Amino acid sequence: MPRKVIIIGGGLGGLVSALHLSQAGLEVQLIEKYAFPRHKVCGEYISKEVLPYLQSLGFDPFAYGAKDIMDFTLSTPGSRAIQTKLPLGGFGISRYCIDEKLADLSRSHGTEIIQDTVEDILYEADGFEVKTKSGEVYRADLVIGSFGKRSNLDVKMDRAFIKKDSPFLAVKAHYKGDMPETAVGLHNFKGGYCGVSKVENDHINVCYIADFKSFKRFKNISDFQEQVLSKNTYLAKVFAESEMAFEKPLSISQISFESKAPVENHVLMCGDSAGMIHPLAGNGMSMAIRAAQMLSQLIVQYDRGEIKNRGELENAYAQQWNGEFAGRLRSGHIISRLFRLGIFSEMIMLFLKAVPSVLPRIIAKTHGKPILVNN
Ligand SMILES: Cc1cc2nc3c(=O)[nH]c(=O)nc-3n(C[C@H](O)[C@H](O)[C@H](O)COP(=O)(O)OP(=O)(O)OC[C@H]3O[C@@H](n4cnc5c(N)ncnc54)[C@H](O)[C@@H]3O)c2cc1C
Repeated sequence: MPRKVIIIGGGLGGLVSALHLSQAGLEVQLIEKYAFPRHKVCGEYISKEVLPYLQSLGFDPFAYGAKDIMDFTLSTPGSRAIQTKLPLGGFGISRYCIDEKLADLSRSHGTEIIQDTVEDILYEADGFEVKTKSGEVYRADLVIGSFGKRSNLDVKMDRAFIKKDSPFLAVKAHYKGDMPETAVGLHNFKGGYCGVSKVENDHINVCYIADFKSFKRFKNISDFQEQVLSKNTYLAKVFAESEMAFEKPLSISQISFESKAPVENHVLMCGDSAGMIHPLAGNGMSMAIRAAQMLSQLIVQYDRGEIKNRGELENAYAQQWNGEFAGRLRSGHIISRLFRLGIFSEMIMLFLKAVPSVLPRIIAKTHGKPILVNN
């Protein structure tokens, strides 16, 4: 009998794992707190490195109107800007759309999607019991933890990162307005940076992350946008010339970039649950999708008996995860720090403009290579 896998969390990490594993014939249950579709705070720019893999799973974002993005503008708080072609490019699609379509596709391949909140994961006698808020208990051979950047389960599992300060907040809204659909802008302001690009329904996604210290001096989001973000003329133009398509912006707080472990108490972590790259790098979703592929391939090998035991599976995954992502996380960290250094970021921009070949190389440092498809 194939092994049974429970996946906790229906973001990109969880959904792509569910799709891959159910296509490979494993029994998959995915437990997600919220119903699909739902907007999420996210820049909604996905690097194309994952496109061949998604297409091999039968998912083509362009079939849902995703925008093909290749022109990158980076600007400083003082509105100095540089433009470049993205080395690989990406696509713009809302989480409202992509999460739901992946959930539908996974269901069609046999994944059972359950709407509930997981409250506890118990590992005993080479198996798991997963307990939910509604009082259900589900059992499985393997559990994938793909519950995002911060969850009740991180507290329950007493994960180290949860005890440290997480001083960032993020805001996102869609706007109706004009902007070239091949463009993505990353516009810095004092205390943060804001991504601007189009998604499938032609809305402009405006999503920013800011440190709480800069934000707390202002009464509300609109004052902050008016008095801080709009000092950058690129952002001022977006806010002045477009109309918000949401009733109000979405916001989240307590975002942490502390290191995490890819395996904890035998739970195989995927996506932001395993580690989160700075959104500045625009690579978190691709990393979640790539981690789902690595993990699913190993689980299939385990199921076939090619990986002999749980210890071997866990070690192989931790090794692959660190090999592939540790360097990218470090680069994302360093770059975001440099851009938070005010006047220094203006100097970096002068340098980037003087030596234009450097920016594509920096972008490549935080991104992966196109993923080979060998399920
Ligand atoms: C401001 C900001 C901008 C970003 N911009 C970009 C970008 O432009 N490009 C990019 O590639 N990346 C971007 N990222 C990163 C990207 O959003 C994440 O890396 C990506 O969403 C990770 O997917 P995931 O599946 O790990 O987590 P998520 O998409 O967060 O999914 C986790 C899921 O788990 C569920 N969950 C949590 N706890 C439980 C529980 N106990 N029981 C059941 N379900 C649970 C949640 O409801 C959620 O649906 C950005 C991040 C931020 C904060």
